[in-house]
Amino acid sequence: MAWRREYMPEITDDRVWDALNSIPRRRFLGEAYQDDEFLDAPLPIGFGQTISQPSLVAYMTQLLMLEGHEKVLEIGTGSGYQTAFLARLAKEVYTVEVIKPLQERAKEILKSLGYTNIHYKIGNGFDGWEEHAPYDAIMVTCAPERVPKALIDQLAEGGRMVIPVGPEHSVQMLYRITKVDGRLNKEPICHVRFVPMIEKQP
Ligand code: SAH
Repeated sequence: MAWRREYMPEITDDRVWDALNSIPRRRFLGEAYQDDEFLDAPLPIGFGQTISQPSLVAYMTQLLMLEGHEKVLEIGTGSGYQTAFLARLAKEVYTVEVIKPLQERAKEILKSLGYTNIHYKIGNGFDGWEEHAPYDAIMVTCAPERVPKALIDQLAEGGRMVIPVGPEHSVQMLYRITKVDGRLNKEPICHVRFVPMIEKQP
C-alpha cells in the first residue's frame, strides 16, 4: 500500500510528498494499530493522546515552507511522527513534550530511524524553548485557547508558526502566523480538532 497523490491535491511541495512516502508511519503506531498505517485518520498513542492524521501532518508541514536551513521548534512531540517530517525538511528541530514517557518512546523510534538533528525537552509548551530562540518556524500540534506569548516572542523575524487555536470540545482554527517587520500576519487556514494544550504540567 501507499499514499495516493490524487487524494491529496493540497500537497504541492514534492519534498513534503517525499517525506510522507519515506517516513514509516507504522513505526510510530502501537501494536494494536500496525495494520492501520495507511488509514488517513488520527489514532491513539496512549495517555489520551493521538498521532495526527497523515494528510494533515503533511499539509501543516507544507505551510511552514521549509527549505532545509531552518531551526524549528515543535510543541507536542507525541508519537514523533510529525517530528520526523520536520527533521527531514529543516536543519535542526527542538521538540517539547509535557508527557515524559511519550517523548521517551518517540526519541527511541526517531533515533532508530537515524535522525540526529532532533533535540528533546520535557516541559510545558506554553513556555516554548527560550534557550535556542529565535526559531525560523514553529509547529504546534496541540491546541491552546490563545496563541502563547512566549511562542510569538521566540519566532524569528520572517518566521512562520502553524498553530491550532480554540477550546477543547469545540471548533478550532488552524492558523499560519508570519512575523513581518515585527508585526504578526495571522492567516486562518481551516478547521481542525487537536487535543488541548495542557496548561499545567502533570
Ligand atoms: N505531532 C504529534 C501529535 C501528538 S498529540 C503526533 O503526530 O504524534 C499532541 C501532543 O501534545 C501530545 O503528545 C500531548 O501530550 C502534547 N501536549 C499537550 N499539551 C502540551 C504542553 N502544554 N506542552 C507540550 N506538549 C503538550
